[in-house]
Amino acid sequence: MINENLDIYLQALNSANSGIIITDNLQPDNPIIYCNSAFEKISGYSTDEIIGHNCRFLQAQDRSQAERQLLKDSIREGKECKVEIRNYRKNGQLFWNELLISPVKNEEGLVTHFIGVQHDVTERKRVEYELREEKTYIEEKVRERTKEIMVKEAFLSSIIQTVRESLLVLDSNYVVLSANNHFLSTFKVTQEETVGKVLFELGNHQWDIDPLKDLLTKILPTNNPVTDYEVEHHFQHIGKKVMLLNAYRIELEGQYKDRILIAIEDITEKKELDRRKDDFLSIASHELKTPLTTIKSLIQLLQRMDPAKNPEKFTTSLDKVSVYIEKLNKLISKLLDTSKIHSGNIELHMEPFEIDKTVQDAIDNLSVAIPGHHISFSGCTNATVIGDEMQILQVINNLISNAIKYAPGSKNVEVYINNVGNFVKISVKDYGMGINHQDKIKIFERFFRASDIQKKYPGLGIGLYVSHEIVVNHKGTLWVESEIGEGSTFNFTLPIMKNNNYG
Ligand code: ADP
Repeated sequence: MINENLDIYLQALNSANSGIIITDNLQPDNPIIYCNSAFEKISGYSTDEIIGHNCRFLQAQDRSQAERQLLKDSIREGKECKVEIRNYRKNGQLFWNELLISPVKNEEGLVTHFIGVQHDVTERKRVEYELREEKTYIEEKVRERTKEIMVKEAFLSSIIQTVRESLLVLDSNYVVLSANNHFLSTFKVTQEETVGKVLFELGNHQWDIDPLKDLLTKILPTNNPVTDYEVEHHFQHIGKKVMLLNAYRIELEGQYKDRILIAIEDITEKKELDRRKDDFLSIASHELKTPLTTIKSLIQLLQRMDPAKNPEKFTTSLDKVSVYIEKLNKLISKLLDTSKIHSGNIELHMEPFEIDKTVQDAIDNLSVAIPGHHISFSGCTNATVIGDEMQILQVINNLISNAIKYAPGSKNVEVYINNVGNFVKISVKDYGMGINHQDKIKIFERFFRASDIQKKYPGLGIGLYVSHEIVVNHKGTLWVESEIGEGSTFNFTLPIMKNNNYG
């Protein structure tokens, strides 16, 4: 009966998928006394080759595995233990063995046997290994990609920080995600006042404009950019400005969808220049037309006149024609000068000349032309300068003419010349209307005219621009000192070639 049962048990063990061995713990070196067929299959050895051996034969030369110590300790202490250990088949092929050993104790509690149950988990280990490898590979790729994106972002943000345009990035709720330095310095605001805020609430609600809101709300759904939208507004901190706004939907390699990039350009100056140009054109055509109309009517008069009958009137009319033609001539040369200077095509006929004499000549001529005014001249340099005397003369004429034109209540203009280091300094002082601080900054710009004098005093706003360019071309400087209501002093310097005081 017992034998019969044993047979059934052995049969059952032999049909198990797990490799099973039994070792005799009471014999020296714990030899294997039983193995089932699954163990034969896993190890590649036959029962005859296995019985009597210690289990370590399965480890071949691979002896340094930490799991061995675990097994040894458990056997010594008579405990159960589960490990995954590298074993080798008879043909030398590695297999991963998931091994469970459990002690068998007799009535006295003495460990008589160990039962070892083994599973070949090589395939699972391989899959695990491949998964691990795949994971490392993917992690590495993600790291690389993140780095690439970070580099790209750093690159983009460095561009964004360098461009000379104000840029804002908004999310789909119009909340500012970032603002570049140019934006912050243009609007004189801080990151804290800008980032994280809704665009329409920035500053004094300067962007809270219904038509702009309308356009911006259409960007994301339609991908239609906002182009060249002009906003004229009294901005907090920077005053009245005209801003040009462009807005686009942006996407960075599918990463940042639904973001809006707004580029803002301050076009106040450009608009101002355009306005000045328009004013200039209308004034210039008016100035050209007036003498032409007079010439035309004088010629018609002359055509109808018999010179023999009225010789005196004939001559005075002819003289008038020539005066107006000269006016026209001067105006046209002035216009030509400006365009030549502006394109850098002005020719300088550099020759030495005595500056005291040039200033004196200019004053003499103007005193004759404008007899009602007194132009005083003081100082003396005895200096020779090198330059284009005609152009310097033009500068002096411009300054003195302005000193007369813009001082309606005063008849006195003072011209002063002196030596300052290696330069001569010429000053033209008037007691006229003066120039306010804001205008002083722009007075040497092309077509600039102070706004309050536009209608009252004819002029093209090019005299000071031309004068300034001439002086700069001669390596000197031209500047103005002025108080509103008290008058102005225009000064310019020219480098001295030779001072005749010292030979
Ligand atoms: P224009 O006299 O033809 O307007 P200018 O270039 O000579 O052109 O002068 C530019 C502007 O500078 C003038 O329109 C005027 O507003 C201002 N300006 C020039 N000279 C004086 C001055 N002596 N006093 C006050 N304002 C002046």
